[in-house]
Amino acid sequence: MPKKRKSGGRSGGKRGRASTKTCAGCGAKIPTDKAKKYTVYSSAVDFRLGRELRQEGTYIPRQQKIVYYCVSCAVHKGRTNIRAKKERRG
Ligand SMILES: [Zn+2]
Repeated sequence: MPKKRKSGGRSGGKRGRASTKTCAGCGAKIPTDKAKKYTVYSSAVDFRLGRELRQEGTYIPRQQKIVYYCVSCAVHKGRTNIRAKKERRG
């Protein structure tokens, strides 16, 4: 059967089994090289209030959080799009 993608939807090369990460959307265990990694910044202050405070010159620290999504959750959330066969990269 022909392969849809050369990499099989994975990154990481000729490795065996990869360690797993938990999907932030559905909680599924997914291989690290197949997971979609995103950096999310969150602030403890409400964004409307934060905007006003920033105009006043206040420094508001933001927290960096790394989240992993499985492919189906990433597509559902609009983080990645399904590409046509021509547009696929390998
Ligand atoms: Zn998921």
